[in-house]
This record gives sequence, structure tokens and C-alpha cells, in this order.
Amino acid sequence: MTAPLTPVLEVRGLKKHFPVRKGVLGRQVAKVHAVDGISFSIRAGETLGLVGESGCGKSTAGKLILKLTEPTAGEIHLDGARIDQLSRHDMRPYRQDLQVVFQDPYSSLNPRMRARDIVAEPLRNFQRLADTEVKTRVAELFAQVGLRPDQMVRFPHEFSGGQRQRLVIARALALKPKVIVCDEPVSALDVSVQAQVINLLADLQRDFGVAYLFIAHDLAVVEQISHRVAVMYLGRIVELADKRALFAGPQHPYTEALLSAVPVPDPTVKPKRIILQGDVPSPINPPSGCHFHTRCPYAEARCRVETPPMREVAPGHFAACHLRPGPVVE
Ligand code: SF4
Repeated sequence: MTAPLTPVLEVRGLKKHFPVRKGVLGRQVAKVHAVDGISFSIRAGETLGLVGESGCGKSTAGKLILKLTEPTAGEIHLDGARIDQLSRHDMRPYRQDLQVVFQDPYSSLNPRMRARDIVAEPLRNFQRLADTEVKTRVAELFAQVGLRPDQMVRFPHEFSGGQRQRLVIARALALKPKVIVCDEPVSALDVSVQAQVINLLADLQRDFGVAYLFIAHDLAVVEQISHRVAVMYLGRIVELADKRALFAGPQHPYTEALLSAVPVPDPTVKPKRIILQGDVPSPINPPSGCHFHTRCPYAEARCRVETPPMREVAPGHFAACHLRPGPVVE
């Protein structure tokens, strides 16, 4: 599932299994298969949307890429350099290239720091710029994210939710990163503010060529900003394609069901909603074969025993379903 041009971020067979321990000796009795072998790549200036229901492993995938948690297996390559095995110290030169925007801007900002110092902090820590250079760069960043110069002296609680997210974006951009992991960056915001923040992210990408891994549960939001979309279910990517191809013709039954729940703005169109049976199974003991077989309306006998490999079902369109033929990919 490699993008045609050299990727700036590449993930191969990434896994994160958390041990479940019991008893006074803390014996491991099971594993949570949070991320169970995902592969994808992102090019410079591209946005890959990573979607799925709550608990599917998408946020853990983001944390693995940011090296906030260590993978159980797999590889992460940032601009050609393998980073998954690097220690905290050896990771430092790469930190500048890899930034994050979290869902809740308030909890990711130090409430005791003024806005200008929040944005200046990474410049001081990583680039050791002179005070005048830091001042100039902070002023530029404020302008780039649409904040006013007089807001520099304010504290985080004096900003609205949307303005706080702009502040977080300014801080993430300060070191001119190659990749920003955006983990549900607009889901805590009002709908009108969501659109402003998405437009801002798109404008900044056009101007600076930064790549985004855009993690969200809301397909409508992902559709607005992504170039390609990967759909996750119980720790695995089940479909990955160009946004238009995926929304126009989903190839995996799970994607089909997710898309059928997206509201259609045209009142004359009556969408055929696919209601999935049951809840998402536990990642502690995921179903055998195709993880989705317990809820899939098309499941066959082999789906319970054989894990469907990822196949290229159309050029650049990948799906992991026994009903979709195509060459198997890594
Ligand atoms: Fe459904 Fe079988 Fe395809 Fe899985 S492999 S999505 S259970 S048809």
C-alpha cells in the first residue's frame, strides 16, 4: 500500500498489543490487540484520513507514530529514516519533523503560559534562536494561523475553543515539521468552527507542504480534508483508497456500512442505511478469520477461519475482504 511518490511517512506491519495482567504476581492472561499489523504511507503535502469507530485503534496508531508508546512489532520510517527503534535521546533530531495536534486544545496547553511563550517554547528548545528571531517567528506564526498580535499576551483560558486550536496549530508548525498527526483535532469544536480549522489546516498544507495523518471518527470531516482515506476495524486497516474512489464505491462491507450512516444534504435522496448487528467485539479476544465476520451481512463460512489479505481491488484501491479479488499486497 505504498503511495506512488517517495513517502515522508511509512508504516509497515505496525502492531501494539497491551498485556492484560491478573493476580498478585501480575501474570499476563491475555493481550489487547489495539493495533494489529497496519501498513500505509503518506507523501509530502498529502492528508491521509484514518477513520473507524471508537476503540478501533486509530488513536493508538497515532501515538505509536509519535513514539508516545512503543510498538510490539513493525516499522516506522520518517523521511527515509527508521525511527521505531530509536531511544528517546536518539529520537530528538526527528522530533522537529513530527508534531501533533490533539483533540482537546485546552489540556494540551500549559494554562500558566502566555500564548506567545507557548508558540516560542519549541523554537527555544530545538532551534536556540536569538530572542529577536524568536519574536519575529512567533509573530509570523500568529499571522499564519489567523490570530491577532494583541492575543500574544493572553493565557489559554482567554481564547475560544477554535482560537485555542489555532494556537496549538501555531505551536505544531513552529519547527516546520514534515508530518503532523492530527488526532480528532476538530471533534471538540462547534460545527462552524470545525470548518474554519479544517480550512486553516488545508491552507497551511498548501503553503508549507506538510503531510497530515488526520485521525477522526467523523467521515464527513475526513472527506473534507483527506486526499486518501484508510478505514480501521479492530486494529486492522480494512480499506484504503483515494477519497473519491472510497466514497463513491466502497469495497469493504464495513466501509459501506459506515458510509451509509453519513447524512446526505439532499432531502430528495433517501440513503439506504445499513445497520450493523451487535457491538464492536473486544480487542482482547477479537473474532477469528475476518475480524468483521460477526457483524458482516455478507459473511461466508471461510470468513470465520481465514483472515482476508489486503488486495489491490482497483489501481490504488485496497480492501481486505474475501469477496473482493485482486493481487495481494504487503
Ligand atoms: Fe464480510 Fe467475509 Fe468480507 Fe469479512 S471477508 S468483510 S466477513 S465478506
